Amino acid sequence: MYLKSLTLKGFKSFASATTLRFEPGITCVVGPNGSGKSNVVDAIAWVLGEQGAKSLRGGKMEDVIFAGTTGRPALGRAEVTLTIDNSDGAIPIDYSEVSITRRMFRSGEGEYEINGDRCRLLDVQDLLSDAGIGREMHVLVGQGKLDSYLHARPEDRRAFIEEAAGVLKHRKRKEKALRKLEGMQGNLDRLSDLTAELR
Ligand code: ATP
Repeated sequence: MYLKSLTLKGFKSFASATTLRFEPGITCVVGPNGSGKSNVVDAIAWVLGEQGAKSLRGGKMEDVIFAGTTGRPALGRAEVTLTIDNSDGAIPIDYSEVSITRRMFRSGEGEYEINGDRCRLLDVQDLLSDAGIGREMHVLVGQGKLDSYLHARPEDRRAFIEEAAGVLKHRKRKEKALRKLEGMQGNLDRLSDLTAELR
């Protein structure tokens, strides 16, 4: 499994559709200051479901949509597609390539797709978390983040390691199951109250 390509369209400084293709191994993106290198990393975080405008170095979520330049008007939507090579089957889906698309309109509406089929953010997160990929799984290490990991308290450092090891998804599933159980217990209590009243 490796990141095969990234297509940006209307995302930050990438007004026209731009595809970056990657090979297995190390890739370096070089360019002058302000040419859009960090925007590429922001696009990866965004397509994986980042919800915080600040984490994407903006003030509000619409700031990811191309805002226009002197020669080019602003666009109405941003779209990013990330394609992962899945020939080793690390992502539990029957495709040798997995494409995740996120789209956002100026109205604030957004949508996600897995291999061209509309889905929810939760479906994207569920699918990728099985392969250890996700917004919160430290697949992206931002500038200054290394320092915070090195200086973290032991319990925080343990949390980072647990997340990277894939424990997070099980914790989330457990929390979800516990919430469902709580809801179910509430229903059962209500049912037994009603039964008692009817007796
Ligand atoms: P550095 O080497 O200085 O860190 P960089 O190559 O990482 O720079 P980025 O921070 O990725 O550069 O890109 C900054 C550029 O992106 C700026 O010129 C900024 O105007 C442009 N930009 C950011 N958001 C938008 C947007 N919504 N619409 C148009 N351009 C944008």
